Amino acid sequence: MPLIENNVDLQPYNTFGLPGRASRLVRVRSEDDVRSAIAHPELGRMPRFILGGGSNVMLTGDVDALVVKVEVPGLKLVETREDEWIVEAGAGESWHGLVEWTLARGLPGLENLAFIPGTVGAAPVQNIGAYGLELSERFESLDAVELASGLTRTLDREECRFGYRDSIFKGDAAGSFLITRVRLRLPRPWRPLLGYPDLSTLKEQGATPSVAPTEVFDRVCTVRRAKLPDPAVLGNAGSFFKNPVICARQFSALIEREPAIVHYPLPGGDYKLAAGWLIEACGWKGRNMGRAGVHDRQALVLVNRGGASGRAVMDLAAAIQQSVFERFAIRLEPEPTVF
Ligand code: FAD
Ligand code: NAP
Repeated sequence: MPLIENNVDLQPYNTFGLPGRASRLVRVRSEDDVRSAIAHPELGRMPRFILGGGSNVMLTGDVDALVVKVEVPGLKLVETREDEWIVEAGAGESWHGLVEWTLARGLPGLENLAFIPGTVGAAPVQNIGAYGLELSERFESLDAVELASGLTRTLDREECRFGYRDSIFKGDAAGSFLITRVRLRLPRPWRPLLGYPDLSTLKEQGATPSVAPTEVFDRVCTVRRAKLPDPAVLGNAGSFFKNPVICARQFSALIEREPAIVHYPLPGGDYKLAAGWLIEACGWKGRNMGRAGVHDRQALVLVNRGGASGRAVMDLAAAIQQSVFERFAIRLEPEPTVF
């Protein structure tokens, strides 16, 4: 049975640096550890809160639940196919560490997702994405312990029901599975993805890529270091709201009223709007409400100016949602899981 810690301070375990205590916390390094924790006569009956690196959670106070901190280790190349490599990582490994590990072994394909904080196990939960690449495009399968039965299940891409910053683990199966291992497929030959403005100067020429995967990795890391607040200095959980997706009819009414609105047409005919632009247009960039604030370089990122409570951040978020709704008739949805 893994060690159980009581009355644990969760502030160091969430990148927002929000206060909150866990009545019980257990660290799991294997499927058997998970099964021992859920079979425990007392702990097995408690509600559970699965925690990775805490970079996409909003703590609103103390957590009267068993916090299961996922620390399953391991990185390996499991298969070499003619058209792809398959790598497997333990859910407790650092996501960025995995990206570095693959590149160091000449296995490119994850570089657009460099410098995203958090663990490998949480990456499928919101189908992490950045610079035109989503995890689902590199996903092979995952292993997870079903918490109701204690059985290990393997889920493929279809079963995970990935969507835009979404998956079954945020929807119907929220809280039902603890992901222990993730397998990714890295396509051969490698092709750079340079569609986003911050990467477009790394031009691809002809059929052979003239840019190296490490150059894309370096560019992504440099841009992110410059644009995003470092959670160790200024607490945050990255983008606080999802980019809204609206139908063509709603979009044509909106663009008539707001011709400058930043938008991206999606393959199915819907439109994605940049939530950061909407928030900035409502005058929130750089503003504070008490100790919670809106980042001065990226309005989509809410920050802890020091000593903010989860409630203060939620109040600020509600005020932003209200002004965006009043001006654009769009409801912004928070991206982090609120506990
Ligand atoms: P946590 O915050 O610990 O958990 C997030 C959710 O996943 C919770 O609901 C939790 O219960 C669940 N969970 C965690 N581990 C498991 C598991 N093993 N099994 C089942 N459920 C689990 N996200 C992006 O998509 N793209 C970005 O570019 C990006 N940039 C960011 C930049 C900054 C500065 C920050 C602070 C965050 C950013 N994020 C981004 C958000 C965040 O890093 C990702 O969502 C990340 O995958 C969260 O990982 P985590 O281990 O910290 O998860
Ligand atoms: P950016 O490149 O300035 O772009 C602003 C917004 O426009 C983003 O929301 C992005 O959508 C969208 N966009 C830009 N170019 C696009 C294109 N060619 N096609 C479709 N959509 C496009 O964004 P940024 O703030 O510097 O962030 C860079 C990347 O890192 C983005 O992909 C962003 O999602 C990701 N990121 C995510 C988080 C998080 O916590 N979730 C935090 C920081 C950064 P998308 O968001 O859909 O890509």
